[in-house]
Amino acid sequence: MSSSESLTGVAVSPGRASGPVVRIAEPLGEPASTPAPADPAVEAARIAPAAQAVAARLEALAETASGEAVGILYTTAAMAADPALISQAEQLVKDQNLPAARAVHQSAGGFAEQLAAAGGYLAERVRDIHDVRDRIVAELLGLAPPGVPELTTPSVLVARDLAPADTAGLDPAKVLALVTEEGGPTSHTAILARALGIPAVVAVRGLLAFEAEALAVDGDTGVVELADPAAPVVAAAAVVAIEWDGTGATEDGHQVKVLGNVGSAGDAQAAADAGAEGVGLFRTEFCYLDAPSEPTVTEQRAAYTAVLAPFRGKPVIVRTLDAGADKPLAFLSPDAEPNPALGVRGLRIAFDRPEVLDRQLEAIAGAAQDSGAEVSVMAPMVATAEEAAWFAERVRAAGIARAGVMIEIPAAALTAREILDVVDFVSVGTNDLAQYTFAADRQLGAVAKLNDPWQPGLLRLLKPIGQAAKDTGKPAGVCGEAAADPRLALVLAGLGLTSLSMNAPAVRAVGASLAGATLARCEALADAALAAGDPTAARAAVAALL
Ligand code: PEP
Ligand code: MG
Repeated sequence: MSSSESLTGVAVSPGRASGPVVRIAEPLGEPASTPAPADPAVEAARIAPAAQAVAARLEALAETASGEAVGILYTTAAMAADPALISQAEQLVKDQNLPAARAVHQSAGGFAEQLAAAGGYLAERVRDIHDVRDRIVAELLGLAPPGVPELTTPSVLVARDLAPADTAGLDPAKVLALVTEEGGPTSHTAILARALGIPAVVAVRGLLAFEAEALAVDGDTGVVELADPAAPVVAAAAVVAIEWDGTGATEDGHQVKVLGNVGSAGDAQAAADAGAEGVGLFRTEFCYLDAPSEPTVTEQRAAYTAVLAPFRGKPVIVRTLDAGADKPLAFLSPDAEPNPALGVRGLRIAFDRPEVLDRQLEAIAGAAQDSGAEVSVMAPMVATAEEAAWFAERVRAAGIARAGVMIEIPAAALTAREILDVVDFVSVGTNDLAQYTFAADRQLGAVAKLNDPWQPGLLRLLKPIGQAAKDTGKPAGVCGEAAADPRLALVLAGLGLTSLSMNAPAVRAVGASLAGATLARCEALADAALAAGDPTAARAAVAALL
């Protein structure tokens, strides 16, 4: 939606602010492949020091940053210094007689293509590779590094999208608001803006072509309006330092576990460092997005043990391979399908190839022993209680004590009670549940508004799940992005959901939010959000009660 004075996007971080616009430059263009260097060996030798300089600068930023930004900046620094990237670029200079900047560009392009081909979450990391590439190329060309310029006054940042390192390095005292043309409710910009308490609106179509010297940004409604450049700046209410004692519970002691979403050993360490009480979702397919063939039981056991290691004695939910659609695995690809998101994906693959599931369960049981974590296993993309029972039987046959399933298909939400009768717990994947409820591809910016986790149509589907948890006395968590929003977390607790699992940057904010409201207050917030007609009204109704 747009008018000559305003644009609308998806509100991802609450609060209102206005002030002068600072536009983040578009990424560098492609460096030329000529002139050929006079001495390829000398030219190749420039690459490693340039990459090291970029990594050192990011590390220096990490040292002065705080909270979640630290880990992100160190990760990006490690990507810049990646020996594979550097040696491939050096080889290109020597073999093809290319200038160093061009060689780095090409080498990073190869890595980015592999990630893009993997789709989904890995495709999001393409942005990181491009960021690192542009920083090294700028260093080699003697140009200013791309990204957020040094801000002299408080400003509204406008960008096509932000790299994690850009967002992580932001000074909340200088950034009034963030607005991006791309990105969605689950993007990095969204997660970090919430953690920093900066109002943010993403997926604002037409933003880059919108001429504005100053903007007013509403992170509750998603409206971005022209503002008077001469007016004083308005900052969102300052966020107080996040105090949380590490116990997931409401103010009056009702337990709602705060858990981490992980896909690698690095994620698991970050979740543990952030204070997660366990893991609510270990996406095992993330370990194998580029594996050409099925990993052996021994290989899987070692990989899972490395991820479980920081959670000895703590609860961890391992999800079996969720291959297909946005997360294709080469060794589990179905035949070509017209609609992969509606096809043979997730648990459906196991019906045809149960031996792959059984081998994975054997590896998970082994990793549980090796790590000492309290392991449960759950299946993705379950549609019926019959499928849930089939899965639970195989899990128990593998010697694993607790079996659960994800609820991410509307039919499963509507039959949560019958499903809970045959498994030990359920966990709601709101990312897919929104996609299937609204018939809106979760990867498509054009329909991002429908996939807003505050949609009352989505929230109303969660109510019977919370009720089924109460009736059966079995846990029902949420591990989709909805759980990472500190205010929505209160609504979810009020709906009767018993744990919340999220990426590391959101852990403390969600834990602190829960600790600041009683269960009765959460229930009142849930009633208000469910009664609303649209996401904006739902956010406003909850804000009014807080
Ligand atoms: C979800 O769908 O909400 C979920 C947590 O699973 P994934 O994002 O891995 O599909
Ligand atoms: Mg899912």
